[in-house]
Amino acid sequence: MKTGKLSAKIAVITGGSSGIGLATAKRFVEEGAYVFITGRRQAELDKAVAEIGRNVTGVQGDVSNLDDLDRLYKEVETKKGKLDVLFANAGIAEPVPTPDVTPEHYDRTFDINTRGVFFAVHKALPLMKDGGSIIVNGSGAWQKGIPMYAAYAATKAALRSFVRTWTAEFAGKGIRANVISPGPVETPILEGQFGENTDAVKERFKAMVPMGRIGKPEEIASAAVFLASEESSYITGIDLPVDGGLVAV
Ligand code: NAD
Repeated sequence: MKTGKLSAKIAVITGGSSGIGLATAKRFVEEGAYVFITGRRQAELDKAVAEIGRNVTGVQGDVSNLDDLDRLYKEVETKKGKLDVLFANAGIAEPVPTPDVTPEHYDRTFDINTRGVFFAVHKALPLMKDGGSIIVNGSGAWQKGIPMYAAYAATKAALRSFVRTWTAEFAGKGIRANVISPGPVETPILEGQFGENTDAVKERFKAMVPMGRIGKPEEIASAAVFLASEESSYITGIDLPVDGGLVAV
């Protein structure tokens, strides 16, 4: 039997009930991993667990709630006793022109996208005993100036900075840390932001991408498999754009 690239690995994927997180959970399981996925809505989570079908546990929780993160890792510890891969993927995007940004929008965006990732990593460390791979889901937006994404892009810039520090701090423990920076990808986050204007916005995004198309969640999942697996054993501290060339030009 062919051995998967993530054979016997234990993985956590935050925001695993839809989009990139769900596609990655499916690939991780296909590659031999056991996966814990999180999400805020129990019904969505149950649906995703049923879709993945095997070697998966759903743990309801909000990444901006520290008690929920503690409960998540307690469950991983009780069930598997260790963690090999963390894909800190959960995030929100709410396009708002800077003059209209409210303190609530600002805090919500940083609480989920930045604080949520920081403490998902912080609290995972005690379970990463024999090395591990930390992957955070950023965005190409951090190095562009895309109108209406001031808070969002800055949350993702912070992730790029976290990973530099973690690379230096965790290398001695055999833990690698990398960012994936997707370009526009066909997931519910796009529709959630633009509603009936989604098609027009997609056309605008396509025009920004040298490859001329929106990405598929599975294409981000492939990059996550690479960074999670031994295929990337000498890679740490990078920002891997998966964006059809968007940030390269
Ligand atoms: P999505 O909306 O399908 O997925 C986001 C997931 O995060 C959902 O499962 C959602 O329930 C979960 N989530 C949101 N807030 C949460 C919270 N507080 N606690 C726990 N879970 C929470 O969209 P997606 O495109 O798959 O987004 C995944 C990641 O990819 C995000 O971090 C996003 O910023 C990033 N990203 C997406 C795109 C894109 O175009 N789709 C581009 C660049 C980066």
